[in-house]
Amino acid sequence: MQFNHDNMTGVLLAADLVNAASSGDPAERIGEAFERHEIRGRDALPSFVGELLDWAMHLRGVFEGLDARARCEKVNALLEIGASRGVYLTTHDGLDPHLHFAPESDNLLARVRAVTAGGLAIFLTESRGVRLGACARGGCEQVFVDVGRNATRRYCSPRCGNNDAVDRHRRRS
Ligand SMILES: [Zn+2]
Ligand SMILES: [Zn+2]
Repeated sequence: MQFNHDNMTGVLLAADLVNAASSGDPAERIGEAFERHEIRGRDALPSFVGELLDWAMHLRGVFEGLDARARCEKVNALLEIGASRGVYLTTHDGLDPHLHFAPESDNLLARVRAVTAGGLAIFLTESRGVRLGACARGGCEQVFVDVGRNATRRYCSPRCGNNDAVDRHRRRS
């Protein structure tokens, strides 16, 4: 399966926000994620940290959703908040046509809600409802977007996969 990377900003940012929220320094990590995804007006971040952490908690529910239907229901709830002002196509900055879920003039929080809710919705239509997950290693709270060929990813990182294998081996012996 090939994913169009231009449509991936929202879903990747959603995962980054969830992982930032469960890190030791959420504000710093959210700032890094905004920079990585070139979110406009990100200097306003300090005013919105609390609300973004709250939003991240809702985003986490999508990654931890049990099946496609549960994930869709959760994304619909997010779209109701994040994309309530309408969807439109844009070609800003010379980019290929892509969907925006909030007016350019909206504040940072509203635009981040819109791009993450919309990005998750687009991704689920392309991923057939799977390819979003939470790390299977006990005690690890990271979530991930699986863009691998077979959609079999279970861990946030190779390191968690290896450690989990070692733990299971220890428990057996
Ligand atoms: Zn755009
Ligand atoms: Zn992990």
